[in-house]
Amino acid sequence: MSVELNLLPINEWDLDVTLQEPIVISGPCSAETEEQVMETCTRLAAQGGVHMLRAGIWKPRTRPNCFEGIGSVGLKWLKAAGKETGLPVTVEVANVKHVYEALRMGIDVLWIGARTTVNPFAVQEIADALKGVDIPVMVKNPVNPDLPLWMGALERLNQAGITRLGAIHRGFSAYGETKYRNKPEWEIPIELKRRLPKIPLICDPSHICGRRDILQAVSQKAMDLDFDGLMIESHITPSKALSDAKQQVTPERCGEMLRDLVHRSPESSNELFLETLEDLREKIDGIDLEVLEVLGKRMEVSEEIGRYKKSNNITILQAARWDKIINSRAKVGLTRGLTQEFVEDLYNAIHKESIRHQTKVMNEANAEKEAASKTANS
Ligand code: PEP
Ligand code: MN
Repeated sequence: MSVELNLLPINEWDLDVTLQEPIVISGPCSAETEEQVMETCTRLAAQGGVHMLRAGIWKPRTRPNCFEGIGSVGLKWLKAAGKETGLPVTVEVANVKHVYEALRMGIDVLWIGARTTVNPFAVQEIADALKGVDIPVMVKNPVNPDLPLWMGALERLNQAGITRLGAIHRGFSAYGETKYRNKPEWEIPIELKRRLPKIPLICDPSHICGRRDILQAVSQKAMDLDFDGLMIESHITPSKALSDAKQQVTPERCGEMLRDLVHRSPESSNELFLETLEDLREKIDGIDLEVLEVLGKRMEVSEEIGRYKKSNNITILQAARWDKIINSRAKVGLTRGLTQEFVEDLYNAIHKESIRHQTKVMNEANAEKEAASKTANS
C-alpha cells in the first residue's frame, strides 16, 4: 500500500532557524521549574547544533502518582526560553485542550506522543482541532510496532491540511528485559521512509535507550541509516529529573555527543567510489539471484516430501524435526558470522513458505475433486 501525502520538506518549514542536518531537537523530558527550563535551554543553545527546544508539559506516565507534568504554566517558560535563544519550541499534545493551550501560547511546533498515536479517536480529534491552523506537527510512532497505524495518524493530520509533517521514531514496547527501553525495530522507520520519501524522519534515541550509556551509539546508527535528525532529552541535573532521569544528559554532554557524531553522506559524486560501489552491488545482485534459485530448489524438495508424506498419510509438521532444523541452522549461521536472531527469523520465513508448498501438494487431489464437482454441478 502506498499513500500520497502532501508534504512540505523540512527545510521549507519556515521556522526562523537555519535547519542543518542532523536537525536536533533537545530539551528536558519535562518542564519542572522556570529556572530549569531556561537554564537547560540556554546551555543547550550555547552548545550549537541544536535547532529546536522541547519540553513535556503534560506527561503521559505509565503508572499513576508519578509527576504528571507541570501543566500550562510550563508553556510560558518554554516560550521564554525560545525567545531568549532564538529557537523554535515544541511540546507534546495529547488532546484538544492541549492543542488550544499550545496554540494560544504561540508554541511553534507540536508533537503527538507514542501513547496518543495508537488511538485513532484521539488523533482524529487533534487533527480536527488543527483544521485551518498552519503549524508543523511531528508524530511519534505508536508504542506497538504497527506501521499502518503510524501512517494513519500522519494521513489524518494531512487530511486536516497539515503539510509540515514529521515522524519521530522512539522505538516500540517489548515485554520483559531488553537492552533497550523501547526496541528500535529499525526496519519499521526504514519502511516508513520508503513509503513516504519526503517525510522528515527524526530519531529519539532517549526513549529508545532509556539509559545514557548507549545513547551515542543509537544516535550514530540513526545517522548511518540516513535519518534527518535527532530528538534528545537533556536536563541540568539528569539524575534528579522528575521524569526519565536515567536517560537524560546534561546540555554539555548533549553538545559533546553531537560533535562526536560521524557524518556520512548518502551519496557521492566521486567516480572511483561510484564504480567500485556499482561492482559490489552487481555482486550482491548476483548472490541474491543465487539465494532465490536455491530457495526455489529447496521448495521443490519440500513439495516432493509433501507428496511422499501424503502417500504415507503423515502430517506436514513434525515438531521435533523443526526444532532440530532451527537449532542446527542457527549454530552453522554463527560460524558464518550470522546472528542467531537473523537465522531464526530467516528459517521461520523459510519454514512458513515450505509449509505452504506442502499444504498445496497435500490438498492437490481435494482441489481437483472440488473443481470436478463444481463442473459437474454447473
Ligand atoms: C517524551 O517525549 O517525553 C515522551 C513522553 O515520549 P513518548 O511519547 O515517546 O513516550
Ligand atoms: Mn521522556
